[in-house]
Amino acid sequence: LMLACCVGSASRSSAAKDMTSGRVFPLRHGAQLVIKQGDITQEDVDAIVNAANERMLGGGGVDGAIHRAAGPDLVRACAEVPEVRRGVRCPTGEARITPGFRLPARHVIHTVGPIYENARESAPLLAAAYRSSMQLALDKGLRSVSFPGISTGVFGYPFDEAAQVALAAVDEALEAGGEGGSVKEVRFVLFNQPLYDVFVETAEERAARA
Ligand code: ADP
Repeated sequence: LMLACCVGSASRSSAAKDMTSGRVFPLRHGAQLVIKQGDITQEDVDAIVNAANERMLGGGGVDGAIHRAAGPDLVRACAEVPEVRRGVRCPTGEARITPGFRLPARHVIHTVGPIYENARESAPLLAAAYRSSMQLALDKGLRSVSFPGISTGVFGYPFDEAAQVALAAVDEALEAGGEGGSVKEVRFVLFNQPLYDVFVETAEERAARA
């Protein structure tokens, strides 16, 4: 209901003006893409994705916000995720899932994006972070997933490159999940307006090319 009201009203206005409503784009296999500005900790979805670090015990930025909102059970659940090597529970490009505890979201999918070096080295790792998160959501039969702009904060990923990698990786994961894949709504919940604007422009360009 809420989404339906936003599609038409926002479609002719500039990205900069529709900060509250968000934008909706069709994806393959009947799924939809929602791009909105906001705080991911408030998302009522099957899973929100955390831009975590390899230790998985909390951090700054969106990671800190998610841990604060979920309450102390989240860090306890993260500590129970087995280490794959010393100090590493989730290697860069992989994903792990926990309950959402006090969050409105049922689950948290923790993934680790790369610290930006350059497009050639960093894009495969950022794409892997998105694809691993989507694959976990598909494996668990989840229907709705909200992503932040992974690596676009302290990890320094340029916004336009990050948006292109993110949207392409989500599309690839939906393709891999097939027609019967459970994920039918993918949201990008972007904290700041410049990043929101870049994601909307990138989605518009992809839609025009499709
Ligand atoms: P990274 O280390 O992956 O760059 P950050 O947490 O520093 O992670 O930033 C990732 C993105 O999350 C940035 O675009 C930042 O603006 C955004 N962010 C910070 N807090 C929130 C929040 N509560 N909801 C959604 N996005 C957030």
